[in-house]
Amino acid sequence: MRFLIANDDGIYSPGLAILATVAKGFGDVQVVAPDVEQSSASSSISANRPLTFRATKVIDGVEAYRVNGTPADCVALGLFHRDDVDVVLSGVNLGPNLGNGLWHSGTLAAARQAALLGVRGIAFSTPAVHDNPELSDLAPYIAQVMEMLLPRDDLRLVNVNLPARPRGIRWTRQAVEQYDGEVVPAKDPYGRPVFWLAVTQLQEHSPETDLWAFERGYVTITPILLDATDHAALGAVNPSERIMEFDQPDPQLLADSEEAASRAQHEPVTVERASDG
Ligand code: MN
Repeated sequence: MRFLIANDDGIYSPGLAILATVAKGFGDVQVVAPDVEQSSASSSISANRPLTFRATKVIDGVEAYRVNGTPADCVALGLFHRDDVDVVLSGVNLGPNLGNGLWHSGTLAAARQAALLGVRGIAFSTPAVHDNPELSDLAPYIAQVMEMLLPRDDLRLVNVNLPARPRGIRWTRQAVEQYDGEVVPAKDPYGRPVFWLAVTQLQEHSPETDLWAFERGYVTITPILLDATDHAALGAVNPSERIMEFDQPDPQLLADSEEAASRAQHEPVTVERASDG
């Protein structure tokens, strides 16, 4: 099995190293990750500037490339450079990605970019308890989740969160009932107002959600859809109101404009020269 590993914490993250180390036990591993941290980048892509793809030595025995772009950029470039990737793994993010945090997560977005490109994606996250988290303790749990998920090629995109000392594994849904983002005003060193987009601690979680299970010490596994359509709302629209046709334009007007467009295509372009004054 061939793995591409990306993240949003950057290529030097210890979370990336532990995921690559575990994945090596399951097959071939290549790393493509951002050169600097890109947390909360979600699915943004760098559409207005060129990107570089540079070989880097970060983990012994693992081919690795760093990209001056977003997590989604990394997966796009990684899959551009090799077409034999079976699964894209993202993480392990230092900080959980649960509930409405999934909208902002660059970790999930890397896995989602894979799913958009037709490759399976699995995102992993864990709490960043202190500056140097002991991630090697998580290795057996990551391996156990991979053993569960890798044979399931019906699962296109999966979000996994690992507590520091898991008591078990639960399949969950994303908690969307409460939003945990807040704006915190502060001052810069010159006394001018600045604002932090911060995260608040939510107090209560709906049962069986990812937040609920994670808080109780479970590894959470959440299958994720790419389709954000509200199918219930769509189904509730009266069938007679689902399609509305506008009055058709005058057929002669349409023919005239098509003829004009085709004439413009074939006529040589003449540029009026400005006088040399
Ligand atoms: Mn991150």
